[in-house]
Amino acid sequence: MFEPAVTHMFVHADGVLAESLCQVELLGLTARRAEQLRLLHRGHEPDACAVLAASILAAP
Ligand SMILES: [Zn+2]
Repeated sequence: MFEPAVTHMFVHADGVLAESLCQVELLGLTARRAEQLRLLHRGHEPDACAVLAASILAAP
């Protein structure tokens, strides 16, 4: 899937887009959801995956 290096797209953390896209900003991210997203995006590079980076920061 093509993903531009820099986007300013915001998606809700509970939505499916947060599971399938990497370069998005998350809205309403909870610690519980961060744990789920961290597993879904495991193996991605935190430098290249904004969702993984955010979920690592938000996880307990
Ligand atoms: Zn990712």
